[in-house]
Amino acid sequence: MQTTDVETLNDIINILEEKGNMVYGFAYVGDIVPDKFRHLPYAITIGIPLSPPIVNNIIAGPNQAYYDEYLSVNDRLDLITEQLKTQIAERGYLAYAIPSSKRTDFVNISGEFPHKAAAVRGGLGWIGKSSLLITRKYGPRIRLSTVLTDFRLQVNDVLEKNYCGKCKKCVDECPASAIVGNHWSEGLPRESLINVQSCDVWKINNYPQFNGHVCGICVAACPHGSNKQYNI
Ligand code: SF4
Ligand code: SF4
Repeated sequence: MQTTDVETLNDIINILEEKGNMVYGFAYVGDIVPDKFRHLPYAITIGIPLSPPIVNNIIAGPNQAYYDEYLSVNDRLDLITEQLKTQIAERGYLAYAIPSSKRTDFVNISGEFPHKAAAVRGGLGWIGKSSLLITRKYGPRIRLSTVLTDFRLQVNDVLEKNYCGKCKKCVDECPASAIVGNHWSEGLPRESLINVQSCDVWKINNYPQFNGHVCGICVAACPHGSNKQYNI
């Protein structure tokens, strides 16, 4: 039976709402996706918060609990985006789930598409001086994932304000001195915010027990989301 666009949208929202403690946003990204995704101009971004006490404990560096949480939340995100992709495909639309944490460009240290770009377009927050997405509810204590689709979503409004202000805690606390300290604006080269090579080398050299995947000090240092004990 042919379904209407409203039914397809309701299917998507139902999947997202039943997951509980998370945030999501819908965005048009047709002008910022790589060429290979131009046929998928809409994005569903979902964000799952990390456990507050676990993040509080990594102010001096990551530990096993944080790495386990990081991997676990990534797995949950990937399950949800696969579910969304399948649901959208069953309705006759194209969809592609971008993994929550998968490096595809090892030279430029990036994935297929930055989740945070779609997250900002979808109104979930702003890009902080740390180059992380900062949400009003969870700050940067969140992991993200994205589904790109050709299903025409009703997009969210972009959050106009950047709440970093004069804060530079992430700049001061970064052990690799990787964070430049500039305010983000769309189109600003990533290098103007962060030296990703310095960040990467720091993680590889100092946290090999976590495969150089995590540090998290700039996540823990950010005042946004740090005083909230939201339910996980
Ligand atoms: S993850 Fe660590 S090394 Fe990288 S920018 Fe954040 S604080 Fe610096
Ligand atoms: S620590 Fe301060 S400057 Fe850095 S992202 Fe958070 S609010 Fe912005």
